[in-house]
Amino acid sequence: MCADPQLFDMLDWDDPRTSRSLLKFSPESILRKSAYAFLFEWFRRDLRKNPEAWLETERCNALCSDFKFYGVAIPPFSTYCRCRHIQEPEDEDDALEAWTLDHESAFLELFRYYSKEAEHILFLNRHFLLSFHASLAEFLRTSAGKKQIPALPIPRVTIPRWVKRAIYFRDSGRCVFCNTDLSGLLDIESDEHYDHIVALASGGVNDPTNIQLACRRCNLKKYKKAASNFFYPEWWKDKAAEPERSSGRLEARSVSSRALVARRR
Ligand SMILES: [Zn+2]
Repeated sequence: MCADPQLFDMLDWDDPRTSRSLLKFSPESILRKSAYAFLFEWFRRDLRKNPEAWLETERCNALCSDFKFYGVAIPPFSTYCRCRHIQEPEDEDDALEAWTLDHESAFLELFRYYSKEAEHILFLNRHFLLSFHASLAEFLRTSAGKKQIPALPIPRVTIPRWVKRAIYFRDSGRCVFCNTDLSGLLDIESDEHYDHIVALASGGVNDPTNIQLACRRCNLKKYKKAASNFFYPEWWKDKAAEPERSSGRLEARSVSSRALVARRR
């Protein structure tokens, strides 16, 4: 989803709220907005390119069951065809497009649910977030001055309490780089820092999905770089697994965005 920075062109940059959300922390994250734009654009294009695939009973039923699951009101495609007296299979392509256009608000609502779900899953994955925000930074760097795209660097603002709480719980109250406990229970000298995964100086944005928890020492060491750590605490012990995730190895797992790009090639 974020290999090509130009994918961010799909966002609605004519809407001033898109730019504003990069300057000041918004509950509707840029990750959610992007997931919505990418998913909806992919659906719109695929529907035009492969209408026969969407007419397959299995896929059409899956789409209708998603509407039902999320409680979005829309007549099933089969009912819509019956009401419009569509009987010939060759007329179904046009009917499918008409069904989506006639119920555009229902489709938009469905894609809002999809994008919230994508945000929920991807917010947990700092590996993905580093890659996502490095691509966004590249897009902003190359698109400065176009439409209402904000100029870099984006000014620092106070990180709201609701963002800090979400990050603290996601990162389990520990520095993502060295695993130091920052709860204050084990170390009263601990000092939690809320760090931009892609630093503002490197094209990062003020978005909840671009923040991570770090100790003072690691935050100062990282400075203006784009970096995170892909160590995740285990939810349960797997005795058969190799004992490789010791805290001594955490530093080695820290990967800068440059290394990440090199790894992708
Ligand atoms: Zn640390």
